Amino acid sequence: MDKIEHIGIAVKDLEKSNQLFASLFGAPHYKIEEVASEGVKTSFFKTGPNKIELLEATKPDSPIAKFIEKKGEGIHHIAFAVSNINAEIKRLKGEGFTVLNEIPKKGADNKLVAFLHPKTTNGVLIELCQEIE
Ligand code: ZN
Repeated sequence: MDKIEHIGIAVKDLEKSNQLFASLFGAPHYKIEEVASEGVKTSFFKTGPNKIELLEATKPDSPIAKFIEKKGEGIHHIAFAVSNINAEIKRLKGEGFTVLNEIPKKGADNKLVAFLHPKTTNGVLIELCQEIE
């Protein structure tokens, strides 16, 4: 596993949160992207070498809607860059982690992504992401 690629934050109102985080970072988001298959709309911010992804649910059965219902707004996942997502999935399964997407799926920001179940990672939802070439 490589560096932290981004941190994902679940928000109720993307427009309001875009303003909030623009004030916080002193720069606006640089991209908005909807991932219809996941029922989320995302926006991305850069601050120094770091990237923050805000996630808003676009339908009631979206994983983000369920997360906010249970835990409220806040940090949703930490994403790590990997160079070979399939090899990493295989390795982590071998280590006993529960991989939620054995076949990586297309995520936001031109990435192939897979998640690890938080019950096997001390309550932290971990995303693996590999840049699509
Ligand atoms: Zn993410």
